[in-house]
Amino acid sequence: MGARLVVISNRVPVPDPEGPPAAGGLAVAVMAALRGREGIWFGWSGQVSDDPSDEPRTQVHDGISYVVIDLKEQDFEEYYNGFANRVLWPILHYRVDLAEFNRADLSGYVRVNQRFALALSRILRPDDLVWVHDYHLMPLARLLRAQGHYNRIGFFLHIPVPPPDLIAALPHHADILGALVDYDLVGVQTDNDRENLRRYLRSRGADRTGDPDVLALPDQRVRLGAYPVGIETDEFTRMAEASAGSDIVGEMTESLGGRALVIGVDRLDYSKGITHRLDAIERFLAHAPEWRARVTFLQVTPKSRVEIPEYAALQEAVSGTAGRINGAYGDVSWTPIRYVNRSYAREELAALYRLARVGLVTPLRDGMNLVAKEYVAAQDPGDPGVLVLSQFAGAAAELDRALLVNPHEPEAVAAAILRALEMPLAERVERHASMIEVLRRNDVSHWAENFITDLTGHPASSEIRETEP
Ligand code: UDP
Repeated sequence: MGARLVVISNRVPVPDPEGPPAAGGLAVAVMAALRGREGIWFGWSGQVSDDPSDEPRTQVHDGISYVVIDLKEQDFEEYYNGFANRVLWPILHYRVDLAEFNRADLSGYVRVNQRFALALSRILRPDDLVWVHDYHLMPLARLLRAQGHYNRIGFFLHIPVPPPDLIAALPHHADILGALVDYDLVGVQTDNDRENLRRYLRSRGADRTGDPDVLALPDQRVRLGAYPVGIETDEFTRMAEASAGSDIVGEMTESLGGRALVIGVDRLDYSKGITHRLDAIERFLAHAPEWRARVTFLQVTPKSRVEIPEYAALQEAVSGTAGRINGAYGDVSWTPIRYVNRSYAREELAALYRLARVGLVTPLRDGMNLVAKEYVAAQDPGDPGVLVLSQFAGAAAELDRALLVNPHEPEAVAAAILRALEMPLAERVERHASMIEVLRRNDVSHWAENFITDLTGHPASSEIRETEP
């Protein structure tokens, strides 16, 4: 069992012994990293209080210590809703136009990172391996180093890295993305993200070294790597197989009445391109009249970040567009689009994916997109559905046997839906076999292992500093 692994993320879903296990993408990934290790998961409890203690609270479940702190309301507003989700999220998803920067939010972001660093100082041991996750915590290594922690510290960014010119639109980017050089290893989702980050750091003065994956500054060395995050592939396939005969499959099959199902599953977020997708569905209905009344589009869209105005506006736009299309094309016995704002358990999603002839995953920009992978894993290999996938999802780099589309061209997405619905069995089987193979080879356990191996397997920058003349 080697060194302790300390995983740090914004939220820590402390398990509820009565409830289901934490199921979000990041939670599944972190659990894969902690499995079989002496591990700690540190972060925000999700609770807000007036005078939060600096002393973290610890609960142990199944050998993992969950260590959490609370935040003040102002911290939550400025750090989480403000800088993380109204500035970093849009800019890193190439939407500089939606970023709303103010200095108070930036100080809130740095203040919470500092609180994390102080609370961590109470629990960190010198030989702990530290793995920080996602855009909420980019400056954390710099703050930990300032307190004298020379541990191996890795960082994984779950969302995209845009080109340097877009990063430059972020005020004070040097203190945020520039601070990534204080990590020993920075992992991103794709080669494209790694290349963008490498170019950005080079523009900030980082030099090449003898190792093409390592950049150097006078006092730092940072390794960059692409680690496309995976899913629990076999587990998803098993859940989908086991869904035959379940209530949800029975109800859905009956309500479809023999129609083909096309499914979309996305949090309500502008990066997911839901209104663009609805436009494409409208084109499809207009140009493939033979399919009207023979196909049902199901769009599962749990609401998210409801405190942020852009998200409320998006809800209006999506439900308005879906309503308009249903009004124009539906009739008394058929509604083309079923738009559902609730969230479903993994087992239920696995069942719905398997029923769907087409999975429609068309984000305008997405770090990875786990739904695309889950859809493929849930298919019956002998009679699989077809994935229509945006070329701008990180998953497109691995799932290149999907029907890849530009989500900005509704006619092309409409044509891909038609092609998917009419694809012969042999082609569906061949495409699925090639993609499931990729997903088995790089499931979430492999992803975690690869990152940890690279974090432990190379000299840390502090060791290099000590040995260099
Ligand atoms: N998800 C879920 N229930 C829902 C909708 C989504 O459990 O009703 C899960 C889905 O299975 C996937 C994750 O949420 O694992 C979404 O991850 P993805 O990478 O697609 O998008 P993100 O929301 O992280 O941007």
